[in-house]
Amino acid sequence: MQEDKINTDIKTKAFAENDRNVLLHVEKLTKQFGRTEVLKGITLDIYKGDVVCIIGPSGSGKSTFLRCLNRIEEPSSGSIIFDGEDICQKNVDIDKHRQRMGMVFQQFNLFPHMNVIKNLTLAPVKLQGKSEEEAHEYAEQLLKRVGLADRAEFYPSQLSGGQQQRIAIVRALCMKPDVMLFDEPTSALDPEMVGEVLSVMSDLAKTDMSMVVVTHEMGFAKEVANRVVFLDRGEFIEENRPDEFFSNPVSPRLKSFLGKVL
Ligand code: ADP
Ligand code: MG
Repeated sequence: MQEDKINTDIKTKAFAENDRNVLLHVEKLTKQFGRTEVLKGITLDIYKGDVVCIIGPSGSGKSTFLRCLNRIEEPSSGSIIFDGEDICQKNVDIDKHRQRMGMVFQQFNLFPHMNVIKNLTLAPVKLQGKSEEEAHEYAEQLLKRVGLADRAEFYPSQLSGGQQQRIAIVRALCMKPDVMLFDEPTSALDPEMVGEVLSVMSDLAKTDMSMVVVTHEMGFAKEVANRVVFLDRGEFIEENRPDEFFSNPVSPRLKSFLGKVL
């Protein structure tokens, strides 16, 4: 009887998991740089609305993994199914897919010779064929949302690091992406500016945006992620809900890592 109950629970859970929409299905992804194997066959599903935090030691392959997802870095083997299509196939229109994956880097990478509004409207106008008015209107709406409506005419050099990073997030959002990829978005910031960027990211998570976030901010991972993944030496070692992940790590490697960072 007891066993039946458990089985039913497991089946219900499995069904619920399957029933969620897979946005990105990554299968046996590898990446070599010369003879060094940096990603050793990574398999991971990312579901619509997921906020997945990836944590792990420096040099473990976190950036490489993220950059492989939109093929800024060319994977060596494996597949990445994005909304039903294998985007690792050579004949795929990768630029089209890239437009649907917003990316935010450690360095903000804004165009220094353009003001904020130009930074925000350039791609929607040039790549997505939006009218200037439409692109402006949407950009202004998003600027308001991150508290920077009064900075539209400023140049990046006139803004603080935290403001520049919030603009970089808005710039990615202006393309109306299906998923946002963040690579240590707060690592280059002065400590007093980390909070404002994390707060924009948690607001974004509340809008149901799918997000993959490489971060060292364990507080953010605990509070905002629905899944936390540990990457070590090019392999996914462990994944769990944040509460379990941080309070009951299983693998010795994760235990040791958390021992150093918490
Ligand atoms: P992380 O983001 O976890 O710190 P990276 O993905 O940046 O790790 O790097 C993983 C490993 O791959 C490191 O050993 C790094 O030196 C190596 N690596 C990254 N990019 C390149 C490259 N373009 N050429 C050669 N080696 C690289
Ligand atoms: Mg990195």
